[in-house]
Amino acid sequence: TLSDRLAGVFANLRGKGRLSPADVDATAREIRIALLEADVALPVVRTFVAAIKQRATGADISQALNPAQQVIKIVNEELVAILGGETRRLTFAKTGPTVIMLAGLQGSGKTTLAGKLALWLRNSGHTPLLVACDLQRPNAVTQLEVVGQQAGAAVFAPEPGNGVGDPVAVARAGVDRAIDAHHDVVIVDTAGRLGVDAEMMAQAAAIRDAVQPDETLFVLDAMIGQDAVTTAEAFASGVGFTGVVLTKLDGDARGGAALSVRQITGVPIMFASTGEKLGDFDVFHPDRMASRILGMGDVLSLIEQAEQVFEADQAEEMAAKLAGNDFTLEDFLQQMMMIRRMGPIGGLLGMLPGAGQMKDALAQVDDRDIDRTAAIIQSMTPEERRNPGILNASRRKRIANGSGSTVAQVNSLVERFGEARKMMTAMAGRFGLPGTRSTRK
Ligand code: GDP
Ligand code: MG
Repeated sequence: TLSDRLAGVFANLRGKGRLSPADVDATAREIRIALLEADVALPVVRTFVAAIKQRATGADISQALNPAQQVIKIVNEELVAILGGETRRLTFAKTGPTVIMLAGLQGSGKTTLAGKLALWLRNSGHTPLLVACDLQRPNAVTQLEVVGQQAGAAVFAPEPGNGVGDPVAVARAGVDRAIDAHHDVVIVDTAGRLGVDAEMMAQAAAIRDAVQPDETLFVLDAMIGQDAVTTAEAFASGVGFTGVVLTKLDGDARGGAALSVRQITGVPIMFASTGEKLGDFDVFHPDRMASRILGMGDVLSLIEQAEQVFEADQAEEMAAKLAGNDFTLEDFLQQMMMIRRMGPIGGLLGMLPGAGQMKDALAQVDDRDIDRTAAIIQSMTPEERRNPGILNASRRKRIANGSGSTVAQVNSLVERFGEARKMMTAMAGRFGLPGTRSTRK
């Protein structure tokens, strides 16, 4: 998969002190193959890889990150950009009901989406009406009635007198009903075929012309892979659409379809469906999709936090200390404070691959612990802070008295400091924590 391949690329970069032009080329090549394997369309791959190469070679390199992290960050940012940056919201009509038409292949998830959208809209105070314009499949109307009921939304279905058999007439009558009954949103469910065909396209276009939708949402099964591009292009020219909804993201699709469709049609992805239940639905978040494509969500959050917390020079300073092995108790205290600022410790450690023993060692660090540690360290002389080796029994007793703690607590701190010093040096080597570049030159 894409994420496996990228993980391979990043593993090669881990431990490099600097990104050479050859590294950039090799990385770009791997990313290119990976994207092609994930069914991303070729023109999209070209644009993407060119952007990555340019940025990785360019000067906007963060001091807080090592080269592997920098490339991950760049790839992630470019993915987010291609996926649309900020999420676009639905456009509501200024007067009269807002008409939302759903279009897409049969089985893409339109009828299910109608129910999901209805529920979602109701939860924000709207009064949607669902209109059943799929008159092709025998049970399609019933299916819409069922999801409408589940969503607590009214459903307009063909009956004698309101256009039986003619989806265009039903759509028009549905909008009239919405006006009469004061529904502020109309969701028009339409028929699809298994493949793109002219008749279906013509029908969808006729419905579009009849109801003049404020939004036409193209519903796309994320699992269909490379076919996504041709399908999207067919709907773009046959019906036109203002937004894309990706469905079945609960499956193992890696998101190649999302990347291609966004880039090729230029239309934003607005919603994401992640299951058969009506609640399995959310506004589309480009950043979440990017980390899904990368398969490195945890690493990304870690990078983000590291960037927020570490001042570049602070990181450099710490790196120099680790290299010279003169990490002191004051630094230890600083590290604890930093970890505190980085959020819940369990969460942070969960992000580091294989940081099991580190987790055990720091698991009990809480706020009180940090305050006590601060008090103990402040009761030490500068000499003692730099060189805990000189802490004999009488010094430990003095420090315990001075800081209002017990000798056992002082002992435990000194012990933990020793472990932390070992761990930090080991981790710096293994995971390429921020600011460790100078140890590798
Ligand atoms: P339509 O033909 O476009 O109206 O598609 P349907 O709404 O009837 O959905 C087709 C099938 O896909 C149904 O079995 C749905 O339950 C299922 N489905 C729809 N959306 C999702 C989704 O996000 N995840 C999963 N796993 N199944 C979905
Ligand atoms: Mg349907």
